Amino acid sequence: MYGKFQKHLQAELESIEQAGLYKRERNICSPQGAEITLEDGRKALNFCANNYLGLADSPRLIRAAKEAMDARGYGMSSVRFICGAQDLHCQLEKAVADYFHTEATILYAACFDANGGVFEPLFTEQDAIISDALNHASIIDGVRLCKAVRYRYANADMEELENCLKQAQAQRFRIIVTDGVFSMDGNVAPMDKICDLAEKYDALVMVDESHSAGVVGKTGHGVAEKFDCYGRIDIFTGTLGKSFGGAVGGFTTGRKEIIDMLRQRSRPYLFSNSLPPMIVGAGIEMFKMLSESDELHARQQENVTYFREKMLAAGFDIKPTQSAICAVMLYDAPLSQKFASAMAEEGIFVTGFYYPVVPKGQARIRVQISAAHTREHLDKAIAAFVKVGRNLGVIK
Ligand SMILES: *Cc1c(COP(=O)(O)O)cnc(C)c1O
Repeated sequence: MYGKFQKHLQAELESIEQAGLYKRERNICSPQGAEITLEDGRKALNFCANNYLGLADSPRLIRAAKEAMDARGYGMSSVRFICGAQDLHCQLEKAVADYFHTEATILYAACFDANGGVFEPLFTEQDAIISDALNHASIIDGVRLCKAVRYRYANADMEELENCLKQAQAQRFRIIVTDGVFSMDGNVAPMDKICDLAEKYDALVMVDESHSAGVVGKTGHGVAEKFDCYGRIDIFTGTLGKSFGGAVGGFTTGRKEIIDMLRQRSRPYLFSNSLPPMIVGAGIEMFKMLSESDELHARQQENVTYFREKMLAAGFDIKPTQSAICAVMLYDAPLSQKFASAMAEEGIFVTGFYYPVVPKGQARIRVQISAAHTREHLDKAIAAFVKVGRNLGVIK
């Protein structure tokens, strides 16, 4: 049997390759950080990790992880409701709720699971889910697993959202779902307007803070802080894999009864292992660290501002951003790939994106700025951008 199937796969793989969409992985032989070491010993500056607060190699978190492992063991060997819950899990859930000013939290193995398991237990075919067109793949998959009627509005388009809400008056309950920061443009969801519409049309609100938490808002607490929407958002989801340390883990936090129901019925929670103690212990320490000082968030913001201003001054076309993501627009797909490779030759890792990941004619280089980047790192990256940009005729 495999022979035929193998041929089919080989042909598919070949067509991915021909379309220029084959994903190859670079192996890093150092901790994740601003400066990384590759397999061949070369060093590179990393501008394409979600390590926004630079915590992925934090000595304080590594110590906390080790201490938790010594005190509570390596693994849980169970799902939460059978015998997989420790005191640490409850402490981390409380820390997440404190951070987002919510009533309760439920942990998952990843935010992919949090989003995969949030809709199906709460909504039925009588209800409506109204989703931003650029929401993360895990939200799209979560919505697919639920029988609710689906509505979709163009990215951050409040007129289209309002139209969806009008149509969705036919359903029993409605929920608006959005990413806090969209990963391709780095734009922030207009949370205040979304909450206004939700109130006007009697809808619940959910936001995925994966790219916004730690970055957006006066002290980096995300879109609710930025738009002063506390109490108006019913469900937050997020990851421990980006700003919050960069390991793994996800959560849903929000209204008490919602979280209670997820604990009863959410399948990725009920049927998948609990987070290991080292992740949970480090997570608790991470929230403690963020509560003590705004320094990392402030440095991250300073770095983005510096990078953006220098790049604009050099003549690059950059999407307006209020997040850690800077989209350097090139508009041409082959050019975006050439540009990213030339940057890698200069020892700077950035990612070139083109259709179908971004709309046709919107190819770009995505740069992700971290608190871990020093002024010297930023200057090196900017110098490489200028050199490659001139060589490829992008700037004068
Ligand atoms: C990264 C990301 C996720 C997935 O998070 P994991 O914890 O890695 O599964 C979910 N939603 C959004 C918006 C993300 O950016």
